Amino acid sequence: MMDRNFLDTIIEFEKQLESTQLQFRALKEFVAIMIEERQALQEENNHLRQRLDEIHEKEAMDEKIRENRLNKADIGEGYDNLARLYQEGYHVCHVHFGSPRKEEDCLFCLSFLNKQNV
Ligand SMILES: [Zn+2]
Repeated sequence: MMDRNFLDTIIEFEKQLESTQLQFRALKEFVAIMIEERQALQEENNHLRQRLDEIHEKEAMDEKIRENRLNKADIGEGYDNLARLYQEGYHVCHVHFGSPRKEEDCLFCLSFLNKQNV
């Protein structure tokens, strides 16, 4: 009778071991999946960070191009204003700036305007 009980206990213990082994296998698979997901997330994160850097670089470059364009527009507008002033009959050269030309062309003015219009 004692032996019978002992055998039952052993069988019960074996069942527990099998059940524990199944749980352990499931846990191992879960860990493997987590490791894979973690790797995928890290790669995606690196990729996104790279994209962000590229976007920031492009933005900085666009900003520089825009500033350059604005500066050129300013210079262009400045030239237009001076050319108009000259057409209206005033000196734009540093020698006689602002004084009336009296219908005569001024070499200083023309040379100055030519230099600006590059
Ligand atoms: Zn002049």
